[in-house]
Amino acid sequence: MNRQELGQSLNLKIEMIPEGASNRSGRTITPQYITIHNTSNDRAGADANAHSRFVREKGCYVLPSGKQNFVSWHFTVDDKCVIKHLPVNERAIHAGAGNAVSIGIEICMHKGIDQAAANARAERLVAALMHDLNIAPANVRPHKAWTGKACPVLLLSTFDGFVRNSDRMCREVRAYVVPESLLSAREFEAPEPPAEDVVLESLGVGPEEEISHDEEHELIAEAVNAFVQ
Ligand SMILES: [Zn+2]
Repeated sequence: MNRQELGQSLNLKIEMIPEGASNRSGRTITPQYITIHNTSNDRAGADANAHSRFVREKGCYVLPSGKQNFVSWHFTVDDKCVIKHLPVNERAIHAGAGNAVSIGIEICMHKGIDQAAANARAERLVAALMHDLNIAPANVRPHKAWTGKACPVLLLSTFDGFVRNSDRMCREVRAYVVPESLLSAREFEAPEPPAEDVVLESLGVGPEEEISHDEEHELIAEAVNAFVQ
């Protein structure tokens, strides 16, 4: 498999969160990690399209206290497509300390999904990101590694195998001698140097880390269901 074939196999759609939305930080990161989530939403219709509408049109959930928590991530994957919501070098809000250094991927798990196909599509997306952004397999992490949350709930017991499959595809793509005509085939932009505010953050000057709540996925699931067809 070459890089172009890998990219085409994703069925990638671009549905960006509007600039200026409250769940868009607008802050540049250099992504060094990939964080994998499951949506924890098993309702029929809670697919990538429903999550795309949620993250673009609402982008928050409400705590029992009434406080709104904004959320965002870079990609949603189901058995039919990948939807991209943010530039890979923009900080999203999905994994506590992982926000500052990682790309967030949500894998759907709704009733009726072909879960094996969704997981395989996510493995291909991870392979493409590992390839384009030079991310090591050790830096593909479950949400749990950042916050302790039991996520991705369907993949925790087989996470090493998930990463191995992505790594194998990434190596295969790297080993393929790319014809000159395909050298521009890249879906994912290379990271830019850290913006000044990221440098300031590393000096301890930046805004507070977003707090990650254990009930987060469940509350997001309730909010997403407003967008289920
Ligand atoms: Zn998660």
